[in-house]
Amino acid sequence: MANGMINGIDHVGIAVRSLEERIPFYREVLGMKEVVIEEVPDQKVRVAMFPTPHGRIELLEPTSPESPIAIFLEKNGEGIHHLALGTDDVAVGLAAVLGAGLRTIDQTPRDGADGAKIGFVHPKSTGGVLLEFCSR
Ligand code: ZN
Repeated sequence: MANGMINGIDHVGIAVRSLEERIPFYREVLGMKEVVIEEVPDQKVRVAMFPTPHGRIELLEPTSPESPIAIFLEKNGEGIHHLALGTDDVAVGLAAVLGAGLRTIDQTPRDGADGAKIGFVHPKSTGGVLLEFCSR
């Protein structure tokens, strides 16, 4: 069910130094056996995606020191990196934010993991949350 342009929490992105080190917590302790690993060269990350009936967990491991995730880890250590809200049209979401005079990171949608279109809103516009719009 949609609320405005948002139809759900698509995923939570968590920055990790090593997928191999962190995956066992979700698989073995929480019993989340289903996991898909994908590399997203555009963002210089490897992503481990754990689906749940209501949104998924994405572990993000940098593949290069220039990766935004590598820079995040350097500053903050491991932890929650971003919150992704599901929407039918990422361009509409970005336009709404820009139209309100607020800052985005992306002006137009780009390609994310698993065939998604994504676009980021700057944390300065949201009270400190790196917010992603995501459509599938
Ligand atoms: Zn994301």
